Amino acid sequence: MEIYLQGLGVSPGIAIAPALLFFHDRYDVPSYAITDFDAEQMRLDTAIHETRKDLETIHDRVVTDLGERHAEIFQAHLMILDDVGLREELTEHLTKHQRNVEYTLDMLAKRYVQTMESINDPRFRERTADLLDVVDRVLRHLLDAERPNLARLGQESIIVAHDLTPSDTASIDTNKAIGLVIEAGSVTSHSAILARALEIPAVIGVADAPSSISAGSLVIVDGASGRIILNPTRETCKRYSKAQQRLEERRAKLLRITKGKPARTMDNVEVMLCANIELPLEIEHSRNVNAQGIGLYRTEYLFIDRDSLPEEEEQYEAYSDVARAMTPHPVVLRTMDIGGDKFVEHLQILKEANPQLGWRAVRFCLARPDIFKPHLRAMLRASAHGAIEIMFPMISGIEELREVKAVVAEVTQELDDAGIAHNRNIKIGSMIEIPSAVMLADLLAQESDFFSIGTNDLIQYLLAVDRVNEKIAHLYEPAHPAVIRMIHQTAQAARAHNIPCSICGEMAGDALYTELLLGLGITALSMAPVAIPLIRAEISHIHLEEARTLARRVLKMSVAEEIKAELKERHLARAKKYDYLLDSDQDALLTEKSM
Ligand code: PEP
Ligand code: MG
Repeated sequence: MEIYLQGLGVSPGIAIAPALLFFHDRYDVPSYAITDFDAEQMRLDTAIHETRKDLETIHDRVVTDLGERHAEIFQAHLMILDDVGLREELTEHLTKHQRNVEYTLDMLAKRYVQTMESINDPRFRERTADLLDVVDRVLRHLLDAERPNLARLGQESIIVAHDLTPSDTASIDTNKAIGLVIEAGSVTSHSAILARALEIPAVIGVADAPSSISAGSLVIVDGASGRIILNPTRETCKRYSKAQQRLEERRAKLLRITKGKPARTMDNVEVMLCANIELPLEIEHSRNVNAQGIGLYRTEYLFIDRDSLPEEEEQYEAYSDVARAMTPHPVVLRTMDIGGDKFVEHLQILKEANPQLGWRAVRFCLARPDIFKPHLRAMLRASAHGAIEIMFPMISGIEELREVKAVVAEVTQELDDAGIAHNRNIKIGSMIEIPSAVMLADLLAQESDFFSIGTNDLIQYLLAVDRVNEKIAHLYEPAHPAVIRMIHQTAQAARAHNIPCSICGEMAGDALYTELLLGLGITALSMAPVAIPLIRAEISHIHLEEARTLARRVLKMSVAEEIKAELKERHLARAKKYDYLLDSDQDALLTEKSM
């Protein structure tokens, strides 16, 4: 029977394939007495040798595909594998208790975990996970219970899991793993970000996903709407594969016709289209779609999923690489936005009752100059190699902006004194993503070189809807009249003070809103690289004067549904007239009579 499940679409596209259930805990560890100690040692040596080969292969693949930084985790795993102390303890237990090696290893690992947990230090949580990950690999070799290897899949599959560890996600073979269905996670969880970066259709927050989907059963993933269809009928499959084919054709066509062209409205006004990036491989994606710059580099991704802070030098290299690769285009480095739902275990940011209202972004940075200053130094030094701009997240008012600018001035002075090259007139921007910043936009504009509206957070704080809580996801409404008014108010303040105002939240990449945003006075948009060709095509069929008239009309509307209906009608009419349909129109695609 055909069954529909609903989750949160985090990476657009359609995928149809059998389910591959990805579990970590599907084996029993036997316990028995041994007599041949040497044979047991040899089994262990072989299992460790095989595990090392696996880890080295994954490490090398991840270095090539995602960059050195994302491969660090496998270096750490190799170090655990080579831990002399652990090995000695294992040998000692084997000799003393004369039980089989898998039992001994499992027992020792559990004992380690217990000790680490009893210490209750968040730094140990990540180490425990790493240790368990390595032990799991060795045990699977010993028991011949091979771990499903996401790097080597036999056939195209939809990966269904409770969650994926960073090491699992980073090692995915993107040719075969064509869709992801994850039970846990949030839009900003590691698996969601990586799925978007790798351009794999993905739906997260699918309740009971691993238990309600049978291995090998056919699954359709619709990464735009967040819909999952289990055991689709032949008819449904036909509709979705047609929609998938058309989407691919349209994407290819859009890329072909928009490539190399600036985004320009019908009345010849240019709109700056930039890319949001988290991983090094997205620089290539950004260049492939002719992004006119990086409008948001989420630098916190350099800090998460690792055991220690990146040194200033490593950060400098990473920022310089992006600046050089994008020259002559601008690159906006957003200072790290950790806290909220992006925790960095080794920084000991303890879980808070209200993390989204807590020790996050500039609040964290201002409290930790030992981390903030090298972060800014790396950015300023990199500004010698390209058009780098610095942007601060979660600015709530003037004092905070002045405080962070004072730290920039301090670091600038230190670089001057040391004779280190940097751009002395670096542009400083404020992210407008807290309602108080909108209310003070006229004041902030006087002391900022540019604004970028972070609609993801602005909507969360304005409507009091936690952006990662799936129970209230239906209340998260970009078309809420209050959101539209806030965008308008911010754009007007920017205009009055002659500074550019972009949007870098998810709304920027949703073609439903493009005309309205331009009409409200937004001059630049920054989005996941995959969305750029679609938005460029949309812009080229918009008349700015008409967009302004539309914005005036929408600003008088009182209900989100009314606003969305109007926007949808206009955008569908345009997309049909000029023969392009967008990811968010998949529903329209699927119900088209022609299919
Ligand atoms: C936003 O809040 O809209 C934004 C772009 O930043 P992030 O999603 O990283 O919080
Ligand atoms: Mg934000």
